[in-house]
Amino acid sequence: MKHVGKILFVGLIIASLLAGCRSDTAVREADESLVQVVTTNSILYDIVKNIGGEFVEIHSLVPIGANPHEYDPLPLDIQKTQDADVVFYNGLNLEEGNSWFAKLIETAGKEVDSASVIKLSEGVEAMYLSSQGKEGEEDPHAWLDIRNGIKYAENARDALIKVDPEHAEIYRKNTEDYISKLEILHNDAIEKFTQIPEEKRFLVTSEGAFKYFSAAYNFNAGYIWEINAENQGTPEQVEQIVELIKKNNVPVLFVESSIDPRSMEMVSEETGVPIGGTLFTDSLGEEGETGDTYIGMMEWNIDIIFEQLHSNSK
Ligand SMILES: [Zn+2]
Repeated sequence: MKHVGKILFVGLIIASLLAGCRSDTAVREADESLVQVVTTNSILYDIVKNIGGEFVEIHSLVPIGANPHEYDPLPLDIQKTQDADVVFYNGLNLEEGNSWFAKLIETAGKEVDSASVIKLSEGVEAMYLSSQGKEGEEDPHAWLDIRNGIKYAENARDALIKVDPEHAEIYRKNTEDYISKLEILHNDAIEKFTQIPEEKRFLVTSEGAFKYFSAAYNFNAGYIWEINAENQGTPEQVEQIVELIKKNNVPVLFVESSIDPRSMEMVSEETGVPIGGTLFTDSLGEEGETGDTYIGMMEWNIDIIFEQLHSNSK
């Protein structure tokens, strides 16, 4: 028995070390005086952090650089979700890949769209998928239109005020400051993009994540597959995008930080059109690196899209 106890103990240490690698909140005891928050991904984490500031402690579920459409929650995620005062998710079909979020919420004894489980995209005008078998399903990537990011911030503010009315004024002030930065960024983007000739405004990416972005900033969007799912980069999908690239003289292609670039590399090889850079779509950049905030990732995307399409349009 003594021996078993020792093995168990070592196992626990290893488990807590592993948990510690993922997130420093894992090994720290939750601070009872702070609002305990869970977000489904790093983009939502950053938006909520900007509103909640020092009064919230946030555990973000899907790791940076990973695909939020599908995820397998860890035991720590379940515990944090159980203990959370409020859980924020994107909705619009994002966390649906393997029903991971619905299952997690159920396991944690909570209810989706109750007072403690909040859809941050509430109030956003949904856009819809159109590829075969997906027709009519919502496209989740609303945050790539900065005006929707503003809605997310307002929804975070309202939810935090409900669970922590004592700090309402601070949440309101933080939201105001944050929204004014987002408004500047949105207007800068529009101004920049007007310098790209209309016929060159073509955004080709692996996943069709740029519907909202394209509608907001006046681009055409092309993709290999429409939404991250099982069938990514099939020969038919590649054939279709190659045709579209040739037909429209698309000058440059893009890959995404949270998606394997090999399919797009194949498309690039087949068309002779270069890959102009990596965009952030479903995840922030690593902490301390480019794109590690929502504003940072949008700035990066705007700059690289502008540089690539503008320089290729002369
Ligand atoms: Zn996506």
